[in-house]
Amino acid sequence: MLDIITPFLVLGVLGGLLGFGLAFAADKLRVEADPRIQAVHDRLPKVDCGACGYPGCEAFAEGIIEGEVESLSQCKPGNKKHYAAILEYLKNNPDEDGNIIKVNM
Ligand code: SF4
Repeated sequence: MLDIITPFLVLGVLGGLLGFGLAFAADKLRVEADPRIQAVHDRLPKVDCGACGYPGCEAFAEGIIEGEVESLSQCKPGNKKHYAAILEYLKNNPDEDGNIIKVNM
């Protein structure tokens, strides 16, 4: 009987320990993303076509927040409504040092 129960006990304990370790690591190693990336992403057309030169809208939004993107018109499916909404958002949401991200329409 013990021969049958032992593997279940060992695997159960190992599974519990590994699960606890993963939960602990996920909490301690979490990288907080800049919430402005999501806000800019929400204002893009979200076609994920890659015409901007980035692999998708989220990467383009990240590029904007990191100051890599020179012009919002790199987003071909976007229009002036999208660009104006992003510029307005960036103007009203500077970084913690008060710097406003500069990007052309
Ligand atoms: S061009 Fe615009 S819609 Fe297409 S992936 Fe880039 S940001 Fe998204």
